[in-house]
Amino acid sequence: MAKRLPVIGLTGGIGSGKSTVSQLLAERGARIINADTVGHQIYQPGTEAWQEIVQAFGREVLNPDGTINRARLGEKVFSDPQALARLNAITHPRIYAAIEEQIRAIRADPPPGIRGIVVEAALLIEAGWTPLVDQIWVVVASEEKVIERVMQQRSLSREEIQRRIAAQLDSAERQRYADLVLVNDGSLEELKATVEKHWTALTQA
Ligand code: ADP
Repeated sequence: MAKRLPVIGLTGGIGSGKSTVSQLLAERGARIINADTVGHQIYQPGTEAWQEIVQAFGREVLNPDGTINRARLGEKVFSDPQALARLNAITHPRIYAAIEEQIRAIRADPPPGIRGIVVEAALLIEAGWTPLVDQIWVVVASEEKVIERVMQQRSLSREEIQRRIAAQLDSAERQRYADLVLVNDGSLEELKATVEKHWTALTQA
C-alpha cells in the first residue's frame, strides 16, 4: 500500500519567508494548500460565510459587484477585538473544513510525483488549525531582515511593518509549537539548502 502523504503546517510572521519556503517545497514535490486562498474561496458571494458576514457587518462591506471588500472588512475588525472574534468565528471553522477536505482528496488520489502536502497558513496556530497537520514548521527571521525585505517587496513603511509585527503572535511563542524552526536570516541559497535537507529527511523517511 502507498505511504500516507505527510502534511506539514508551514507558518511564520509577516515577511519571515513562508511563501518563499512554500515555493521551494512545491519545486520539490509538495502540494501546497494556501489558507489565504482557501479563505478567499469561502468568501465568495452566495456562500454561507458570505451571508453571515453581510448579516454581521452590513452591506457596506460589499463591493458593487457583491464580492466582499476585504479592506473595508479589515478596517471594521482592525481595532475591535470583538468584531474580529465574530469574523473569525464565521471564517476559521470553514477554512479548517475546506483544508481538511483538500487534504483528504489529495491523499485519496495522490497526484504523480507528489511526496507531501504543505498547509501554508500565517494563522495556523492562532486559528487552531494545527490538528490538521502532522508537523509544524515555523519560519523565522530577525526583525531587521523582515523590515528590509518587506520594505523592498511592498510599499509599506518601517512603522507600518513594525505595527503589523506587534499585532501578531510573538515569534518566541510561535516557535514553542514548532517541530522545526527554519531560520531565514541568510541568503536564499542557504534557505534552499536548509529546506532541501529537511524535506528530503521527511519524505525519504
Ligand atoms: P512571507 O510569505 O512569510 O510574508 P515571503 O516569502 O514573501 O514572506 O518573503 C518576504 C520577502 O523577502 C520576499 O520578497 C522574498 O523574496 C524575500 N526573501 C525571503 N527570504 C529571503 C532570503 N533568504 N534572502 C533574500 N530575500 C528573501
